[in-house]
Amino acid sequence: MNLILLLQEDFITETCVRLQGRRLKHVLEVHRANVGDELSVGMKNGLIGTGTVSRLDPSVLEMDVRLDRKPPAALPIALVLALPRPKVLRRVLRAATVMGVKRIFLINAYRVEKSYWLSPFLESGALGQQLVLGLEQARDTVLPDVVLRPRFKPFVEDELPAVIKETFPLVAHPAAGDPCPRNVTGPVTLAIGPEGGFIPYELEALAARGFKPVSCGERILNVETAVPALLSRLF
Ligand code: SAH
Repeated sequence: MNLILLLQEDFITETCVRLQGRRLKHVLEVHRANVGDELSVGMKNGLIGTGTVSRLDPSVLEMDVRLDRKPPAALPIALVLALPRPKVLRRVLRAATVMGVKRIFLINAYRVEKSYWLSPFLESGALGQQLVLGLEQARDTVLPDVVLRPRFKPFVEDELPAVIKETFPLVAHPAAGDPCPRNVTGPVTLAIGPEGGFIPYELEALAARGFKPVSCGERILNVETAVPALLSRLF
């Protein structure tokens, strides 16, 4: 936890927060902070700054907070991700959040197992937890927007055209002839396939809307590796 993410309800006065639970435990056990120490803090969806510890015991942490800086810039990307299995999804969401992705569409595809859509992990609380962990890791405060689209065709036909508007739409596909571009300057929409890959119909549907298939080499990466590899190549 490189930044302690604060919520409105943590404030007991205009500038003082009181924390218990997971964040208190972390400050006690990992930071091993003392009264007077300064910790990095940030307001959810707001500014970042410093919290000076004013009280710390096993039951409560209080800090005087000064929020005076903007969080790091977001990556100009919309990630369209075929829903991976819950364990992988957890890691991918966290990694994408750490890297600064703010728009994530979890979509269906032929090779997405139906049962993945029934996972309790898809409930907003569980998803949100991974996003918070990612923000705390990266010293960011802006929660990504994650939307679930369990039907491929309506998403691609009705919603995707607006998502890709004024972006460079790319579909990551190991067999693509063209290499994934490096250091792009403008916004990108990046589609990533399921663990079994997109089927030809899906690639065609994406191509019909302007998506260019690109590869980042002959190695087939797993989804949790492909996402950070592609992001760091693009930006
Ligand atoms: N057997 C599948 C592999 C899927 S890997 C196939 O051959 O298509 C899961 C997803 O990760 C892919 O759909 C793609 O979006 C991404 N990916 C994995 N390795 C990649 C690579 N070398 N280049 C581009 N995308 C890759």
